[in-house]
Amino acid sequence: MSKELTTIAGIDLGTTYSCVACVDEHGKPVVLTNFEGDRTTPSVVYYESTNNIIVGSEAKNNLKISPEHSVELVKRSLADPNFLFNHEGIDYRAEEISSFIIKKVVNDASQKLDSEITDVVITCPAYFGINEREATKKAGEIAGLNVRDIINEPTAAAISYGVEQSEDKVILVYDLGGGTFDITMISVTEKEIKVIVTGGDHNLGGRNWDDKVVQYLAEKFAEENDSENTLLDDPETLNALYLEAERAKKTLSQREKTTIVVQHDGDKARIELTRETFESLTKDLLERTILLTNDMLNEAEEKGVPSFDELILVGGSSKMPMVENRLQSEYKKTPKLHDPDEAVAKGAALYAHKLSINDELVRRIARTLDTTEEEVNLEEVDKDQKKEAIEELALVIGGKSSDIEKTINQRIINVTSKSFGVVAIESTTNEEKLFNLILKNEAVPITFTQEFGTSEDNQENVLLRIMSNEVKDQVLDPMNGVEIGEATLSLPAGLPANSPLDITYRINEDGTLFVEAIERSEGRKVETSIETNSVISEEEEVAAKERSQAMTIS
Ligand code: ADP
Ligand code: MG
Repeated sequence: MSKELTTIAGIDLGTTYSCVACVDEHGKPVVLTNFEGDRTTPSVVYYESTNNIIVGSEAKNNLKISPEHSVELVKRSLADPNFLFNHEGIDYRAEEISSFIIKKVVNDASQKLDSEITDVVITCPAYFGINEREATKKAGEIAGLNVRDIINEPTAAAISYGVEQSEDKVILVYDLGGGTFDITMISVTEKEIKVIVTGGDHNLGGRNWDDKVVQYLAEKFAEENDSENTLLDDPETLNALYLEAERAKKTLSQREKTTIVVQHDGDKARIELTRETFESLTKDLLERTILLTNDMLNEAEEKGVPSFDELILVGGSSKMPMVENRLQSEYKKTPKLHDPDEAVAKGAALYAHKLSINDELVRRIARTLDTTEEEVNLEEVDKDQKKEAIEELALVIGGKSSDIEKTINQRIINVTSKSFGVVAIESTTNEEKLFNLILKNEAVPITFTQEFGTSEDNQENVLLRIMSNEVKDQVLDPMNGVEIGEATLSLPAGLPANSPLDITYRINEDGTLFVEAIERSEGRKVETSIETNSVISEEEEVAAKERSQAMTIS
């Protein structure tokens, strides 16, 4: 990284593995290895004591042996009000536990760079709603970092893929990770990267493949030793079996067969596993990803995008040869295995680099105009002035000014991952219904206004109950929604029933929802923005930050 620019790291905070990257002095994204020398770090946390936390492969080695001191898969519980992990009398939310993972990978990366990383971009799945995004951001903040942005994992993968491409394309990002499967259609052009549709299963990933292998090993062991199948009841054996199963699975991505030695209760068995057997054990899991991909393709077709140009595979589990083979036969296109473990972190690093270029341009233009950085809006700066600043910057940091221009001009467009509506009485049925104003998978920013009416004469106020949901219908039962906010609009006196109210929903680029309601006769208005609907409370956050100060995380 050029000295002129602030290093902003890109973090892929994975369900099972995390990875950090930044852009080097040649403008190329590079992964920063952890203290153990690995390019990815298991997202597993082990409490050695309250103030001594171990993250990564060492924690993973202890996972099943001391479940009371270990946590994994916390990403699934971000923004979940029902999740609390209690360790020695202290309750930890997923945000705080995620902060340990972030802190570990960022600390190690800073060591590697020999300079402290203060600013980061963190990725999250495209399906994450506002709350989960906010929770991801909180995790970074508890770790003491400036979280500059949260971007979608498939978008990051597309960025890292897109840098080498010049044509406009519709790409399918098939991401089979450790705990989740995400499938996303994205259009990539020089001007913008836009998510079209997203789908998948948040409980399907490499660990389900491991489960199958563990089952198989336990059965074979019992068979060979002519004993009862009790292996899985013993935590230490189970822990060892999972570690072995994952290792065997990875070996089978390279070789046709492997041998696993299983030991339990003084007995021992050498069990051979061929790729063929492995693939037949796990065939159903793979078929499910195809089914989900087809579902998503149908939805894309309904939205007017009937085909795609390229299929790119990311996520560690995409390295299993069965994935490529099956996709090839289903879609008659050669899937491209694109840097499956690192593409997301590298894409985040490239995006982060764009932010630091932006920062530096703003700094330079502010200096020239003798004004503050806050007052500079790059979109409004005089064209020639901007060009001059870009040319100067190109000289300082190296590279072509046209590339810099392209980088800062490319927009990232997202779709909403949920539908948003308001609860009102349906006049025909007199029943309470949820009226969706914005539907899932619509491109953001988006604004939509609908007219509603007051329900009775002389009504004093209207309570807006704002809900999010996963349904794509215009009108539905409120049971299917989750309340995410409320606002009260007070009305002028003497309004007859059915006086018009205009309710507007707007979602901006970062997924924040703004709601506005206007009563027409006097133009009275309420506005609310639903941006920090976080599950972790302010007090909890302060306590977590304090704990973080006193902790060693390694
Ligand atoms: P996530 O982002 O969900 O945390 P990753 O994309 O890092 O997950 O993928 C992790 C998963 O990939 C794990 O289940 C791991 O066992 C699996 N994996 C990694 N390398 C290989 C390989 N060579 N062959 C098969 N599976 C692999
Ligand atoms: Mg991932």
